Amino acid sequence: MDYRTIIEPFRIHAVEPIRMTTRQERLRAIEAAGWNLFGLHADDVLIDLLTDSGTGAMSRDQWAAMQHGDESYAGSPSWFIFLEAVHGLFPYRHVIPTHQGRAAERILFTAIGGPGKVVPNNTHFDTTRANVEATGATAVDCVIPEGRVPSLRHPFKGNMDLDLLDRTIRVAGPGNVPVVFVTVTNNSGGGQPVSMANIRGVRAVCDRHGIPLFLDACRFAENAWFIREREDGFASTPIVDIVREMASCADGMTMSAKKDGLANIGGWLAMDDDGLAERCRNLLILTEGFPTYGGLAGRDLEAIAQGLREVVHEDYLRYRIRSTAYLGDAVAAAGVPAVVPTGGHAVYLDARALLPHIPPLAYPGQSLAVALYVEGGIRGCEIGTVMFGAQPDGTEEPAAMDLVRLAIPRRTYTQSHIDYTIEVVLRVAEHAADLRGYRIVEAPAQLRHFTARFEPLG
Ligand SMILES: *Cc1c(COP(=O)(O)O)cnc(C)c1O
Repeated sequence: MDYRTIIEPFRIHAVEPIRMTTRQERLRAIEAAGWNLFGLHADDVLIDLLTDSGTGAMSRDQWAAMQHGDESYAGSPSWFIFLEAVHGLFPYRHVIPTHQGRAAERILFTAIGGPGKVVPNNTHFDTTRANVEATGATAVDCVIPEGRVPSLRHPFKGNMDLDLLDRTIRVAGPGNVPVVFVTVTNNSGGGQPVSMANIRGVRAVCDRHGIPLFLDACRFAENAWFIREREDGFASTPIVDIVREMASCADGMTMSAKKDGLANIGGWLAMDDDGLAERCRNLLILTEGFPTYGGLAGRDLEAIAQGLREVVHEDYLRYRIRSTAYLGDAVAAAGVPAVVPTGGHAVYLDARALLPHIPPLAYPGQSLAVALYVEGGIRGCEIGTVMFGAQPDGTEEPAAMDLVRLAIPRRTYTQSHIDYTIEVVLRVAEHAADLRGYRIVEAPAQLRHFTARFEPLG
């Protein structure tokens, strides 16, 4: 079809009301939350773009699959349905279910991390970095230089800088690098895709040094769609085949089913290495559960299995990527600085460029995120110095970028919700010069962005 409008490929089957609030109500709510959007009561949020993780709408067929859930402690039929669905895309010998992605990370890095170890990644997601560092290991980001500059266009801005990766491995000593990670799409770098050629290139570097390669595969389907759209030779390759090819380049994966699993909870860790799988399963039993359910109910395993069948549909992916670009294009057309091109799951506003009068250590991203909430009830997420600025030694440094992520939950909001969001962003941008910075008055040692309390600067 050659129509310009790409419609939502579904109609609405159950309705969740959202509550209108006044600006005064929102000001009171955010002040009470210590100016931290994570501290809000979600009923006080109108359009919740905090994350696309676990916030999507499940399909009729996923809800039906949940009724099929079998809660046997060991060997549940739901486990085998889940395993078959995962293997259809990622045929690794061992699949270890976990309650979400970070549990897979914690288990893996507990098994292979530790002081003196170095883990390269294109860009570590916040929980990935925290789980690497919690073992005493060092997390190193090796994304291509274009990936660090919001305004620079590149079709695969999530690509690994292969020379930097090679140098990082040589400096650390290959024996100190237990794994190399590639995050698809590159969430913290703007939801930007990684090309198949680059994944193969990372594989070659890993082979040269005898190091295993793992995918942080949370948005594997969105990445596969970009490969099909943008990389030579894939225009007519089925999405499933692209996913399998990505998988075949790696030795294992971590996954959050709350993203491209189209589920509200769940994840897994998968690998070919028998010995490593044995160690990971032992850790799994300690904190997550028996290896055929890993902290999930049988019904969750069924919902994920059905989600994996739906997420590789072309109609779904075309709508998904287009609807995210719709927001990104509108913001860019109005001259609001943002990461370009738009990534798969979110639009990333460039708060550092929009608020040049607020230095990074006064958190321009926090300022912009709070302003979007107060102005229009829209909840985004700071991805910048609040999230990444705290150093392991207790000091603070500006993050590479100060972004505000507007993440789009899957199959949840309609075009009019997004049109409203665009209006609010433009209104806030018009008054950008009036926004003030923040200081942190209280913060935990790790992952401070979740619970820190702030104070507006005078
Ligand atoms: C969400 C996410 C994770 C962690 O998964 P959770 O299910 O939230 O624990 C890890 N890596 C990336 C790239 C993610 O987007």
